[in-house]
Amino acid sequence: MTLAVPNKGRLVDPTLRLLHDAGLQFEERDRSLVSRVENVDLDILFVRTNDVVEFVRDAVADLGITGADLLAESEEDLPVVRRLGYGRCRLTAAVPRDALAQRVEDLAGLRIATSHPRATRRWFADRAIPVQVIPLSGAVEVAPRLGLAEAVVDLVSTGTTMATNGLRSVGDLLSSEAVLVGNAVALEERVDDVDRLSTMLGAVLEGRRRKYLMMNAPAERLGDLEALLPGLAGPSVIPLAHAGMIAIHAVVDADDVWTLLPRLKGAGATGILVLPIEKLIP
Ligand code: AMP
Repeated sequence: MTLAVPNKGRLVDPTLRLLHDAGLQFEERDRSLVSRVENVDLDILFVRTNDVVEFVRDAVADLGITGADLLAESEEDLPVVRRLGYGRCRLTAAVPRDALAQRVEDLAGLRIATSHPRATRRWFADRAIPVQVIPLSGAVEVAPRLGLAEAVVDLVSTGTTMATNGLRSVGDLLSSEAVLVGNAVALEERVDDVDRLSTMLGAVLEGRRRKYLMMNAPAERLGDLEALLPGLAGPSVIPLAHAGMIAIHAVVDADDVWTLLPRLKGAGATGILVLPIEKLIP
């Protein structure tokens, strides 16, 4: 099986971390061509983020990792095998801070500069808002200042770059994140291999969102502690050699740990350990 991944840009680091965390052993070398995965029958093809969709469409790669925004821009109908939760951003419409437009509809009749011309054209056409799309390959946010357009459609995550360039968002066209896409034929022919890879990636992503908690407590406090620990399928409760004491193990949302620990302590837990989860398959 062949997986195409970005060789440059902001999706590279999180993608490589995900693949390594999933247990794939490969050398990155100069990220120029192909890396053979040592422990799984898989080749990793390093290509430009913008080219991933094409490689998968043409079956040069069976699977690929790219941004959902680029998939939308390609207008290829590739199946999304799994959303990967990183590389989150929005494709947003924006105007100079002091412009009149307040809503996306107010862009009717204006020129819009964007590096996502197809997705932008389609979005406005679907809503029957007439706009003139000016395709640019970069530096979209300076287009209004250069007099190339009255508005832009650009990717943002925090919005800081846009604000720095004196732009104000008037609405989002789509929200994006990294996605695992597949070639439709390959997905059918290699259903088990694809499933295994997708499951492993999903297991890493699930694991990252959770923590494994271990603690000791007096058996009589079990009810209070259980109420605090819904866990995945309820906590495991293990009797300890010391009479009247139990150990409780539970999986909790990583975001909850901060508020949970003092409450567990208050409910009688001692020796509380918080452990990372490498992989989790619910
Ligand atoms: P690159 O241009 O190679 O750094 O990668 C661009 C891809 O990263 C985009 O197509 C998006 O899918 C994703 N991305 C995530 N956050 C942002 C952002 N704030 N600006 C641009 N691209 C982003």
